[in-house]
Amino acid sequence: MTPPTIVHLDADAFFVSCEQARDPALRGTKCAVGGAERGIISSASYEARACGVYTPMPTRRALRVCPDLILVRHTAGLYGRVSRQMFDLCESLTPLVQRNSIDEGYLDLGPCGWRTAEEVAAAVRGLQARLWAQLQIPVSFGIARNKLVAQIASKLRKPRGFVVVLPGDETAFLAPLPLGKLPGVGAKTEAALAGHGLRLVRDLFGRPEAELAAILGPGWREMLAQARGEDDRPVATEEEDAKSYSQQETFGADIGDFAAIERVAKGMVDGLMVKVRADGKRVRTLTVKVRYPDFSQASQGRSLAAATDLEAPFYPLVPVLLRGAWRSRRPLRLVSLKLSGVEDDPAQLEIFAAAENKRRRLAGVLDRLNRAGGGPAVKHGHQLPEKRPAPPAPPGNLH
Ligand SMILES: [Mg+2]
Repeated sequence: MTPPTIVHLDADAFFVSCEQARDPALRGTKCAVGGAERGIISSASYEARACGVYTPMPTRRALRVCPDLILVRHTAGLYGRVSRQMFDLCESLTPLVQRNSIDEGYLDLGPCGWRTAEEVAAAVRGLQARLWAQLQIPVSFGIARNKLVAQIASKLRKPRGFVVVLPGDETAFLAPLPLGKLPGVGAKTEAALAGHGLRLVRDLFGRPEAELAAILGPGWREMLAQARGEDDRPVATEEEDAKSYSQQETFGADIGDFAAIERVAKGMVDGLMVKVRADGKRVRTLTVKVRYPDFSQASQGRSLAAATDLEAPFYPLVPVLLRGAWRSRRPLRLVSLKLSGVEDDPAQLEIFAAAENKRRRLAGVLDRLNRAGGGPAVKHGHQLPEKRPAPPAPPGNLH
């Protein structure tokens, strides 16, 4: 039997663990990393969680539910440094490492050549032990045949979890879990599903397809596939993601106006492309992420057929990706953009069409003018203030 080789790792209470590694006196205490008085808790120790502190929670409220909470300020640079050391150790095990965030990622142990699940598990146990011995960071692991199941497994027995799902056992593993364990099923969706008698993953299997379609909407097939543990996304290695260009915009007030957000996002494409050209790079993939006031978020990305250092090819993707990521249409707190799939500008290797070169020269002139003016003196159309309010959109035209 082929062993499971996809691993999801998720550091436990990462910022707090970094602080505890730096100051072991914090171990075993009710402590949390967060901003003072008006701030937000960004990471809480398991002792603090037992006391009712969670993330994100306003610091003021955390101190109310847990008056003896030890509040630790963010240490600049520490978490990024420990994160790099953590993933460097992972790369000593396999070259196929995908960093998803500062404290989460996937490994593909396929290239290691282990022949049994026991061998894979022993190798990952060794990594877990090294992460603790060298960095004092507790990390939970899930091992499975694919990313979806590995991710659910790693989060199941935190902290210091270690869950292996053997190939073929995916459906049986997921069936007894609450539906909220599936990615994309948030607390609200979970409550709505419970209203239809759907609480556990296995509850989906007993319903006729037409009923599921009526309850779950257009995404019902996808959700059913998830419930069965089906997923074929590959582990994407870091060369692609190591270098990326990103920018985010937090809105003063939550915004629900699609056109306004699309304009902001296109403006961010412009800003990022200036940096891409300044670095002599080209980029291929655009990812749009949206975040709601409750900090839940969603993202969607798409790649062009070829990398470019021009803004225009990405403009048509902006509304498409925004629609895809912003399904609920609740007002947004933040939108962010990432350009990845970075390549060196192969200008010497390719003969560009004359028209593209002309646009590139124009873009270069705009960059220089904008630099000389100390700000965006020359603007693209979507950067101009709207002249008149847009006509009211017919309902549902955004989807
Ligand atoms: Mg974590």
